[in-house]
Amino acid sequence: MKNITTNQQQILPSPSYVCEESLLLNNLKLLKKVQEEADVSILLALKGFSLKSSFDLCRQYLKGCCASGLNEALLAYEEFKGEVHTYSPAFKPNEFSKIAEISNHIVFNSFAQLNLYKDDVKSHNSLGLRINPEYSSVEVDLYNPCGVYSRLGITKEQFLKGLEEYPNNLELISGFHFHALCEQNFDVLEAVFTKFEENFGEYFKDLKWLNFGGGHHITRKDYDVAGLIAFLKGIRAKYPHLKIYLEPGEAVGWKTGYLESTVLDIVHNGIDIAILDASAECHMPDTLAMPYKAEIRGASQDPSEKAYSYRFGGNTCLAGDIIGDYSFDKPLKVGDKIIFEDMIHYTMVKTTTFNGVNLPSIVIKRCNGSYEIVTNFGYNDFKSRI
Ligand SMILES: *Cc1c(COP(=O)(O)O)cnc(C)c1O
Repeated sequence: MKNITTNQQQILPSPSYVCEESLLLNNLKLLKKVQEEADVSILLALKGFSLKSSFDLCRQYLKGCCASGLNEALLAYEEFKGEVHTYSPAFKPNEFSKIAEISNHIVFNSFAQLNLYKDDVKSHNSLGLRINPEYSSVEVDLYNPCGVYSRLGITKEQFLKGLEEYPNNLELISGFHFHALCEQNFDVLEAVFTKFEENFGEYFKDLKWLNFGGGHHITRKDYDVAGLIAFLKGIRAKYPHLKIYLEPGEAVGWKTGYLESTVLDIVHNGIDIAILDASAECHMPDTLAMPYKAEIRGASQDPSEKAYSYRFGGNTCLAGDIIGDYSFDKPLKVGDKIIFEDMIHYTMVKTTTFNGVNLPSIVIKRCNGSYEIVTNFGYNDFKSRI
């Protein structure tokens, strides 16, 4: 059952992730506006959003992809077909030559990695180093690339050591990369850049590009888009020889769709507990990892606000597979649809088939209103994993 198109939302498989093309398009248009007005290049970070059935659309707005290893680089190269920028905390020896073949930019996380692979790079590769700007502003440790003892990026101290240890390697480098933000506004980028420029600005004259990573929440309503554009224009004016790249993932998939699930049973143990065919552990991993409480369409996140309150849990045997407590105006019944908002970025990419639970189907709601079921998962997907 592939690529079935229907106009009826009620016949979609349950559970399904439904990505709404019109919402994705709004995000892409805004990103393209930044790209054009500020004269920078914006890449899609596949880590956060890699829905390949949307790449025909994304490609019309963004320059390419940022990949974190061989598989993402292949997906970028074969399916997106724009520029491929590959960074990995450490490249694997058996994968590097393929990565070099299909990547435009390769960003190394240490001088040692650069030194290890410098003879295996291809003439079309533009090489970069990931810098740790040592400006830490992300409050959730799990998502803080500049936290204490972070392995991601080279600190100033290690950079100076690297120059001593590998005296000729900096000549191979065309760009610096940093990724220091998570869900943040432009004022944080400005602060990070100030620190970065202070510590590494003396090397900019020999570079061709800078990459400011992801974490720019450009498509969130309160993001200061005009501020970002003015800031980037300022950098372009100050360093006209440097191309600037941004590589957001979340901002591309932000609020572009939902996860639709079904109530399978309602049990009672002190409270009413609804068991869904969607699972926090398997299908909404960040609700447990971050953690956060997802929004449900038509429900209150406050379990005591409305008359009927329920705890939602998944149909795995994991006791902690709990999505949260919510309240509704009317009692729920078996078969009711439960819609979790904003379940596209960092969800499909992180799902598991733990406990044999199938992954949700993937559906695109096209701009013309039709629903296209692009992927269904079953026993073979579960079986082939291990
Ligand atoms: C995660 C990541 C991104 C994308 O971050 P978002 O928060 O999704 O915008 C970009 N670049 C690198 C190196 C990353 O690790």
